[in-house]
Amino acid sequence: MNIKSTIDNTLKIVIVGESGVGKTNFLYRFIEGKYLKIVEPTLGTDFKSKVCTLPKSKKNVKMNLWDTAGQERYMSINKIFFQRVQGIMLMYDITNRDSYEKLPKWVKFINEQAYNVPVILIGNKIDDENENRIVRKEEGKNFAKQYGYLFYEASALNGKNVNNAFYSLCESCISKLEESEVLNSSASNSLLEYFSISNKKKKNENKEKICC
Ligand code: GDP
Ligand code: MG
Repeated sequence: MNIKSTIDNTLKIVIVGESGVGKTNFLYRFIEGKYLKIVEPTLGTDFKSKVCTLPKSKKNVKMNLWDTAGQERYMSINKIFFQRVQGIMLMYDITNRDSYEKLPKWVKFINEQAYNVPVILIGNKIDDENENRIVRKEEGKNFAKQYGYLFYEASALNGKNVNNAFYSLCESCISKLEESEVLNSSASNSLLEYFSISNKKKKNENKEKICC
C-alpha cells in the first residue's frame, strides 16, 4: 500500500537556534540522506516535507519541516513560521560555547511563540567531539532536563542520531495530540453527562409540579 495514502498525522516542525549551528544541514541530512558542504541560501526558505513510518508507534507521519533561512541571525522570524507549530527542534553546536549560552534567549522566544509544544534540544557536530568539543554532554542534558525537553547529541555530517531525533520528537507530538483528543472527548462526555443529568432533573421537577 502507498504510505502517502495512509498518513495518520501531519506535523508541522520548526528548527531554531543560532546561525551556523547546522540547522539547514541537519534538515538536508534527514530529508535527502546526504550532507551538503555548501548550503545555498535559497535551500532554507519555506518548508520541506518528508513522509515516514515511526519505528516505535508505527504511525505514518508527514512532517512539514520549516527552516529559518538566515532570519535567525536578526531574530526577525516571520510570525507564520510558528503558526500551528506542533514540534520544535532547538539546536546548538557542541564546538561553539556561544551557541549554547544563547539557548535561554531561544527558550524565551519559543515560549513567546508557542504554548505547550514538545521541544527537542540537539547538540550538533558530535562528529567533531574529539578535536573541538567545548560543551559537555551533561551541560546539554541538564539544560534539556530543566525545561522538560527531549535531548540528543547528533551530527548532520555523519548522520548520527539525525533520524532518532526527528522520530522522538514526532512520537512526542503524537502523544500530545492524543492526550488533547482524550481531554477533548472526556470534556465533551462530561458536558453530555451534565446536560443529560440536568435534563433528567428538569423532567423530574416538571413531574413533581404536575403531581402536586
Ligand atoms: P545553519 O546556519 O544553522 O543553518 O547552519 P548550516 O547548516 O548552514 O551549517 C553551518 C556550518 O556548519 C557549515 O559550514 C556546515 O558545513 C557546518 N556543519 C553543519 N552541520 C555540521 C555537523 O554535523 N558537523 C560538522 N563538523 N559541521 C557541520
Ligand atoms: Mg540555515
